[in-house]
Formats: sequence, C-alpha cells, structure tokens
Amino acid sequence: MKVHYLAGVGYDSNVYLLEDEDPIVVDTGTGMYADTILEELSRIVPLKKVGRIVLTHCHYDHLGGAAEFQKATGAKVYLHEAEAIPIMAGDSSLAISGMFGQKLKQLKLEPLKTGQKLKCGSSELEVLHTPGHSPGSIVLHDKESRSAIVGDTVFCDGGVGRWDLPGGDLGQLISSLKRLGELELKNMYPGHGSYAEGDAPMHLRLAAKYIEEGY
Ligand SMILES: [Zn+2]
Repeated sequence: MKVHYLAGVGYDSNVYLLEDEDPIVVDTGTGMYADTILEELSRIVPLKKVGRIVLTHCHYDHLGGAAEFQKATGAKVYLHEAEAIPIMAGDSSLAISGMFGQKLKQLKLEPLKTGQKLKCGSSELEVLHTPGHSPGSIVLHDKESRSAIVGDTVFCDGGVGRWDLPGGDLGQLISSLKRLGELELKNMYPGHGSYAEGDAPMHLRLAAKYIEEGY
C-alpha cells in the first residue's frame, strides 16, 4: 500500500490516497476544492477504481467534499457508526458545517465498526475508535507497515485536535493519544499539516507533552 498525500488548502483537511489493487481515499476536504483534488487523484488512479472513501470523522472540513467524491468515483462513503447515524439524520452541529458557512447535505454513509478491517491490496487496515476530538473519530492502523492515518487526533510538531467542539472530550483525547503511543508507529498521517515518516514517536511524544503541560 502506497500512501499519497494531497495537502489540504485553506480550511480543507488533507486527502490521502491509499493506493493498491483496491484503493481507498481518506477524507475529502470541505468540497471547495473538490474538482482540483479529484483531478489530482485521477492522475494517480482511475477514479472509477476507487470503491471506498473513509472519513476519519464527521467535521465538515473532512466530509464536505464527500458527495462530490462519491459522484465522481461511485465509491461508498464510510464513517464510524457513532457519527454516521447522527450525520445521516442531519445533525449539522456535530458536523460543525456552520463554522464553515455551509449547510450539511444529505449523504449516504456506511457505518464503520470499531475493530473492522479494511483490505487494501495486501495491507489490512484496522479501524481504531479514538474519540476525544469528536465522538466517532477513528485511526486507520496498518500494523505491518507501522503506519496510521490519524485524522485530527494528533498533528505533527506537537499539536492535538480541539476537544471543545460538540461531542469532544479532553479525557478521551488523552486516552486516545496514549493508545496511539502504544502502537509503536513509524509513520503517521494527520488530517491537517504535514505527516511523519520514520519519526512518528517523536511527534506523539511532543503531542503528549503539549497536552500534559498546557492543560
Ligand atoms: Zn476535525
């Protein structure tokens, strides 16, 4: 599995393409730049080959582009069940769409379960439930390559996701970070900013230090 990084522009989340026989797109940005991102993705893999779009959580800067991505690829869109159910019922406060001046659109979602395994070629990604930033935040963990797509749970260079948004919880975020620290990751791919290849433990230690000292 090869991880392609498409840096988020403006408020957009990063978009990752996990490329193998059965590619997976992770997160979709706000939708404001969906055409450009889809064009970029199509240079790497035919869009119709993308059968799955996984959202790390329901915030609008990750989910806003999902409808357009779904239209272009025909893929199913996955979100943890703790969020898929309220989002399909139109819970815009959970999606914080208002913060981005947008309305939450109707979206057909496939609920993901904790511990579910997603195959991507010869790799197997496990869905870890890592609440704190939002109630249904997930991390996709590939044990074999010691890599994880971490959403907004943790960022490079000592940042962590906000816990003051609807359904956020500092205690849960601390537990989720601790859990990530135990995975012995080498590589981590956050939802915003840069990613870490080889030195994930340093970034996780920085994040733990930030949260312990600051709060
Ligand atoms: Zn978020």
